[in-house]
Amino acid sequence: MIESLKEGSQYKFLGVLENVNHDRQPGSSECKKVYLDRLSVIWSSPLSDYNRVLATSQFALPALTYFMWTQVCTTTDLQRLNRETRKVMVVNGAKHPLSSTGLLYLPRKLGGRGLKSTEREYKTIKIKAAMNLYSNNDSTMYLVRLFEEKAARTGSRSLIKDSESYAKQLGLRSELQDPQPVGATEAGNVIDRKKFSGWSKKVNQSRGCAEIESERWQGKLIAERWRDEDVDEECFAWMSDWKTAPIKTVAGLQVLYQQILSTKLYASRKTKTHTGDDEKCRLCKKAQESVTHVVSGCSALVQTLYLTRHNAALKILFFEMLKGYQLADAIPPWYSPVQPKPVYQDDKVTAYWDVPVFAEHLQVRANRVDARFVDRENREVMLIEMSCPWMDNRKQKEEEKTLKYAPLRLELKRQHPGYKIRQFNIVIDALGGYSRSLKEEVKTLVGSDRYREVLRRMQKAVLSHTLHIAKTFKVMC
Ligand SMILES: [Zn+2]
Repeated sequence: MIESLKEGSQYKFLGVLENVNHDRQPGSSECKKVYLDRLSVIWSSPLSDYNRVLATSQFALPALTYFMWTQVCTTTDLQRLNRETRKVMVVNGAKHPLSSTGLLYLPRKLGGRGLKSTEREYKTIKIKAAMNLYSNNDSTMYLVRLFEEKAARTGSRSLIKDSESYAKQLGLRSELQDPQPVGATEAGNVIDRKKFSGWSKKVNQSRGCAEIESERWQGKLIAERWRDEDVDEECFAWMSDWKTAPIKTVAGLQVLYQQILSTKLYASRKTKTHTGDDEKCRLCKKAQESVTHVVSGCSALVQTLYLTRHNAALKILFFEMLKGYQLADAIPPWYSPVQPKPVYQDDKVTAYWDVPVFAEHLQVRANRVDARFVDRENREVMLIEMSCPWMDNRKQKEEEKTLKYAPLRLELKRQHPGYKIRQFNIVIDALGGYSRSLKEEVKTLVGSDRYREVLRRMQKAVLSHTLHIAKTFKVMC
């Protein structure tokens, strides 16, 4: 004989504690506690940023979403949970308190953080649940449908009404008639049950993007990236592909991208903690102290920190090419402090690292090109110039470099008669963006199977040094 369940006692069914009463709601204190406990374990762990976000969606969030299919909770509760999630991130140094909220919920390939919003998840689940209810032929489900329809008729809270209003918020007029529930968008497109998940994701994403575009300060650079036709989603490869990037790196780079580094410009325009008219850089005292200036325009840092960044990125390509020519056996990792030697040579190729060309024929002022390969077998001289300007200056920098070394190319043409002289301008901006045409150039240099991965490594090098520059700047404040 099975005793009937007493008030207050519980049993477990499908992993869920059941009681004589419905007391499990996604907003209920116990679910919330499990969710928040898991969150704080995840965000205080040594996991990388990518993995913490992954663990949040796959380990913490299911503590709530599991119940969302059947239980009801309020938007206020869900929004509170979102706020608490962000608070846990701030406390653990994963998010600047003033950084953009909208950006957290955008996909990482667009520069967002890839977090899932509990409110959005709840609404999507409710719409899907209602659609399921109308497409399921099970007789018990039919009874549930009748129950929900009656609730809607009598003015009680019902899944049908909720899902209709949530669908409306997404711009979808839902038609839940059986056997195939569908929805129609404002443009008249029919979204059926199978297409719904993908479609709602897209709607939420484009709304998120619009929100970032309206953020004039925090969202400015991110939106500029999206508008830039020269770069593609690879400029955010460090968010999605660099899965081991520590939390400090990702949070720090987000601070730069959102222009909330504590520069004088930020302090006087945004937080109003800096008073007085002086917005000039505390290091060079020449230009306005902004993120742009600190990471790529300060004349006080050109010979030291900017040069280190420049070399760190270029040497990755240089070692890769040495290996291609069989002048080196091993390639040091991207973060290695190893510097290339000035000259590598065998009977076919000579490679120079930062060695000036001694002009014999012409007067050449700019004779110190970053790297140079003289390929005697293919009768070719390759000049390689690297630079890390600000985002807007990529194109300008490239033209500048081509112009600057024109006399040198002419001189080399005379020194190596019959050789092809080619100059490659490797421009990766200070925030890791590079143009589509750079991909083609690097493809020519290291081959089509390696170029993508080489560029990603160079991007990592540039970004970690940019971050280092920002940190050093902060220390000097
Ligand atoms: Zn300066």
